Amino acid sequence: MENVIIVGTGCAGLTAAIYTARANLAPLVLEGHEPGGQLSTTTMVENFPGFKDGIDGPELIMNMKAQAERFGARFQYSTVTDFEPAPGHVRVKLDDAWVETKALIVAAGASARYLGLDHEKKMIGHGLTSCATCDGAFYRGVPVCVVGGGDSAAEEATFLTRFASKVYLIHRRDSLRASKIMADRALENPKIEPIWNTIPVEYLADDQGEMRAVRLRDVNTGAERDLDVKCVFVAIGHTPNTAAFKGKLDMDTNGYLLQREGTATNVPGVFAAGDVADHVYRQAVTAAGQGCAAALDAERYLANLGA
Ligand code: NAP
Repeated sequence: MENVIIVGTGCAGLTAAIYTARANLAPLVLEGHEPGGQLSTTTMVENFPGFKDGIDGPELIMNMKAQAERFGARFQYSTVTDFEPAPGHVRVKLDDAWVETKALIVAAGASARYLGLDHEKKMIGHGLTSCATCDGAFYRGVPVCVVGGGDSAAEEATFLTRFASKVYLIHRRDSLRASKIMADRALENPKIEPIWNTIPVEYLADDQGEMRAVRLRDVNTGAERDLDVKCVFVAIGHTPNTAAFKGKLDMDTNGYLLQREGTATNVPGVFAAGDVADHVYRQAVTAAGQGCAAALDAERYLANLGA
């Protein structure tokens, strides 16, 4: 019987690991398909407090992991494939084996959706990203584009006008899905040029492997053209990594876990932290804050159990 299992090794999971390890709970931390979470795919992180010159995303994650290990956190590569509440504890299926734990912190994150084009993985961090807040400031005075038509796309396009010389907003239909206020704000901005009824079909890299243009296709006519941009910001939504908990933990219609008091879920002993439950802020620092809260909630829960 484990004291606490933490699912996920992004900012939320690793912060929960540091706190529960320091509380002598020897947490078992599960690294899944995307170890390190979304930060592991970014380059420089300039908005995490404490690093005045910024820090590389993967380095920040490695530091957090080492910090958790120093206090006794144990790491294991496993994916949660099933889960069931049991009296006084919960059972978690890791790949093929069932493991029992008194508390469970779900910090499995959300994965940004990408377009599924060729060479996509290779381009991420080299002019392809899903996070304007993280990477926008790297593209000062150059043209960029945002793909999508929802609130995220409208918000990111507007944000990017602070840096970029021009922001193309590429949407597959001829009207935005975004709320009116955010759509109006974007479309009224003179730096933003919408390109309607259009989808990207290919990323074009320069000799250094950095984005130089994107090939676009008009969905009505099939006509293709290349648009010179230094970065493509994909904003077509996120998918929370909650499939294994479906039907057992309460979630909203988009699959984000619902928190009750603090970070508690509907199942006693199960806590949710970070992007798996947060589709609003989605920042490294807010995820870390929730990881801390979930660890403290789990500690109190275990203390009440008499564990
Ligand atoms: P979203 O509302 O699901 O919008 C996704 C957009 O991407 C849609 O316009 C969709 O096109 C497009 N899209 C999806 N798959 C695509 C593909 N394969 N190729 C090209 N385009 C594709 O996602 P979101 O904008 O991330 O917003 C998610 C939730 O967070 C929403 O509830 C939103 O209101 C909320 N949010 C709120 C704020 C805020 O209030 N500040 C900011 C951001 C997000 P179609 O329109 O054709 O479906």
